[in-house]
Amino acid sequence: MKQWLGVAGYLAMFLPVVVLVAGHTIGFEWAPVVLFFGVYPLIRLLTGEVKDKQPLWTEAASRTLAAMPVVYAACFLGVYAWVLHEFAAADGRSTADNVGFTVSIVVTVALGSCVSHALVHCRGAIQRRLGSLMMALYGYPFFRAEHMAHHAMPRHVDAAHCPRVHESMWWFAIRRLWKVPMEAMDWSRGVQARAGHTNVIDSLGFWCGVSVASLAAMTWAGGWYGAISFVVFAVLLPMLNSFVAYIQHWGLGVDNGQPGGIRKQVGWEDRCRMQALTTLNLSLHQHHHERPNDAYFRLEPSDRGPVLPAGYSVMVLIALVPPLWRRLMMPRLEGWKTKPLVQKGAGKGLYCVAGAAGKTEAA
Ligand SMILES: [Zn+2]
Repeated sequence: MKQWLGVAGYLAMFLPVVVLVAGHTIGFEWAPVVLFFGVYPLIRLLTGEVKDKQPLWTEAASRTLAAMPVVYAACFLGVYAWVLHEFAAADGRSTADNVGFTVSIVVTVALGSCVSHALVHCRGAIQRRLGSLMMALYGYPFFRAEHMAHHAMPRHVDAAHCPRVHESMWWFAIRRLWKVPMEAMDWSRGVQARAGHTNVIDSLGFWCGVSVASLAAMTWAGGWYGAISFVVFAVLLPMLNSFVAYIQHWGLGVDNGQPGGIRKQVGWEDRCRMQALTTLNLSLHQHHHERPNDAYFRLEPSDRGPVLPAGYSVMVLIALVPPLWRRLMMPRLEGWKTKPLVQKGAGKGLYCVAGAAGKTEAA
């Protein structure tokens, strides 16, 4: 029974999609934005942190957990058709409502990219292609190729796989807008050179074609509103992904030293249970980089990487103001470098006031 409660917790991945559709239906277009920035941090107060170890999942539970991202992807495709339908009806709504709807889709798809991420790491071709399809439909065809390149060089700052320690989140995201396609093409060429050939469906060109077809579909459905929304998706989705990459990797690049003798610490983690459930444990980022082929439901907290002082919603808002970010995070980074095994997460708090090195305590 306890196992199935644990499985049910991952149904939280569907929450943003449900909120998007429900919010639009009742005329509250900004509902997913409120969910991410307003509700998630509060739920943290109730759920606290994940346990140190994952349950020993039964065969049935493992199969269910493995199937859930595929079911999500099927729903996601249904929602895409619904978005086209709603774009076609946009003329009857106010400009403010249309802007709110587009922004809410951006937030929902950005949260859905956590499911895409779990899928593109799967061994099965169908799962990997579903993960790529989800992002390509919203103008992010480079998602898988760029992400695999990131895993190959997670501390590389020149290639923008990791931010420089003195780089703002804004500049990192802007730099990645042109670095990401370049890195994705390099990675694809490398795979093709090693394999001799790849299935056309797995080529970058195919997924760029899907994005072009989606632009045509959105324009056909919503006219200028559909076309502009697609451009907004194509710019903001990579930027939001870069925002999260910044939070996960800041200060851990090759331009910045690590604790004595340690070379592989690449990810800040957040142990909030709600965030782990909604991101499919992407927030347990150090462990994910150590074992990228592990299924999402097997990832666990790691004592080898630094711990974020708050969840992603709060950290994104802080990183929007670079001086605030440096003031909070520099002492924490230095504290981790001095005592790498002495870190404290936010627990049930929105903020962890123990950001300074001297105030951390053994987890
Ligand atoms: Zn990954």
